[in-house]
Amino acid sequence: MSALIAANWKMHKTVAEATAYLDELFERLAALELTATQLAVCPPFTALGPAIARCRGRGVGVFAQNMHEQERGAFTGEVSAPMLIELGVSGVVLGHSERRQYFGESDRALAAKVPAALEAGLAPLLCVGETARERERGDTEGRLRDQVEHDLEAVAPERLGDVAIAYEPIWAIGTGVVATPDQAQAAIAFIRALVRDRSADAAGRMRILYGGSVTPENAGELLALPDVDGALVGGASLSPESFAAIAASATP
Ligand code: PEP
Repeated sequence: MSALIAANWKMHKTVAEATAYLDELFERLAALELTATQLAVCPPFTALGPAIARCRGRGVGVFAQNMHEQERGAFTGEVSAPMLIELGVSGVVLGHSERRQYFGESDRALAAKVPAALEAGLAPLLCVGETARERERGDTEGRLRDQVEHDLEAVAPERLGDVAIAYEPIWAIGTGVVATPDQAQAAIAFIRALVRDRSADAAGRMRILYGGSVTPENAGELLALPDVDGALVGGASLSPESFAAIAASATP
């Protein structure tokens, strides 16, 4: 399975900044041989269309950072999966901890969003992870179990392998405190075992990424872990230079 390295830009980059970034990224990628690595960028909604136009034919996917579970309706400020598909978006980040923490994103909403994304033809990238307090209390596995079981409960076993999960310990996001290789491997193997309880085929096919303070310096070690199938990168993805360096470290 090829690794997926996804750049979560969060609320960064105007259209002009996004297109300048992509032009530089493609120049840097041209010098690399990324045969076994898939890349995606996750711009804000306003830059999706221009990013798709720039990425066409370049082998870099464009993901949204959120979507509503309904196809249409009276949901002011929201965007639906068919709207993203029409633009040419290929996937969507769902359940990022910032959305759970600041915008009340619930497991109930995610249980509807994940199958809605699949149904529309978007590749869902579901984020799960524990807080520092949950880890200290020994509740990491309980928290991951709750999120994985609830958020994926409405996905049919035969579609489960089409979902990707990003294990993002909340204490590692944007803090510079990266999970140790042992912590990342243990949590991701645990998530894979949860998926295996529902479908062995899905557990084998599903990409499970690590996210949380990934940098060019630590990416190689994390991406080499047996259960880690890629990385979701926030801060270090904002510069094309460091994002390309992270992508390069995924190359076997
Ligand atoms: C993220 O926001 O998904 C993330 C992993 O951020 P950072 O790399 O900055 O920790």
